Amino acid sequence: VINFNPGPAGLPTAPLERARDELLDFQGTGMSIIEHSHRGKAYEAVHNEAISLLKELLSVPDTHEILFIQGGASQQFAQVPMNFLTKDTSADYLVTGGWSEKAVEEARYYGTPRIAANTVNADKRFTRIPTQAELQLDPKAAYVHMTSNNTLFGTQWHTFPDVGQVPLVADMSSDILWKPIDVSRFALIYAGAQKNIGPSGIVLVLVHKDFLAKGRKDIPKVFRYATYAENNSLYNTPPTFSIYLCRNVLAWIKDVGGVKQIEAWNREKGELLYAAIDRNAGFYRAPVEKASRSYMNVVFRLRDEKLEEAFVAEGAKAGMVGMKGHRITGGIRVSLYNAVTVDHVKTLVSFMDDFAKRNG
Ligand code: PLP
Repeated sequence: VINFNPGPAGLPTAPLERARDELLDFQGTGMSIIEHSHRGKAYEAVHNEAISLLKELLSVPDTHEILFIQGGASQQFAQVPMNFLTKDTSADYLVTGGWSEKAVEEARYYGTPRIAANTVNADKRFTRIPTQAELQLDPKAAYVHMTSNNTLFGTQWHTFPDVGQVPLVADMSSDILWKPIDVSRFALIYAGAQKNIGPSGIVLVLVHKDFLAKGRKDIPKVFRYATYAENNSLYNTPPTFSIYLCRNVLAWIKDVGGVKQIEAWNREKGELLYAAIDRNAGFYRAPVEKASRSYMNVVFRLRDEKLEEAFVAEGAKAGMVGMKGHRITGGIRVSLYNAVTVDHVKTLVSFMDDFAKRNG
């Protein structure tokens, strides 16, 4: 099938085939990688390769640690303020969607989240990213938190905000590795793996060493970023199979030409799909402002909303799954993560043109 699910999302075939082929006997060791000790040579090589591939693919500078942490991106909503806020300090939150709102709520347990921008509209929807001029930043904030891509509403930051000297923290769960980024602009980046990196339940964290050093020491060790940094993410037993699968996906990205090549495909995919919506503007409607359109999650409606169910059902019959919009937004959402190919999008676009012709 062509998998347009928002996450867990489709993965490229090659890394999964590699996992299948090695599942019972990892490199002639007579054991699955799942059964290897996390302190043994076989697993450690995989672990370190995943980290070095990330360093290479994202050009992570030496100033930043690369960590793998369990618990999903939602745990990071709590872990960031747990490490960097106190009852007497505040952090600025740029609210651009449902996930940012959740991050704000978790921060309230540890300190004061200040809403430095909020693009919610009268219908409680988010259809745009704020402009730099709209940001009401506090220079004394412990950090600024943003969500680089809003998975539910289909908006994406195309220019990262200027937050001065304040550490910038970004949830990049749904667009990490979609294109090269300047990691040095961020004090901390976290990303749940289940869209562009691998399976759910594991998070990639890139954190500046100076920021990390400011983390609280009066919280349990297992929640301190410093603990993961000091132990190469091997403080306790990491999710070894998940990290192995991430390694396979990262190796695939490298094989196909790296993140620059991935970006070229992603731009072509997004442009093909938005062009199909725009040329059938009497039939489809994209609620997101053009400058804020996401290349990862394309959200649209049919002008006749009663036809949306048929659109999703007929699409599924034609082999395209996962297009039903989020329960909050309704409508259609097509997720174009890295495993989706340009040809998949061409198939969708001709289905869309045909569906509009038949029902318009
Ligand atoms: N942040 C963003 C941008 C997301 O899209 C998601 C959903 O996958 C999450 C956070 C929550 O991730 P998790 O389910 O891994 O906690």
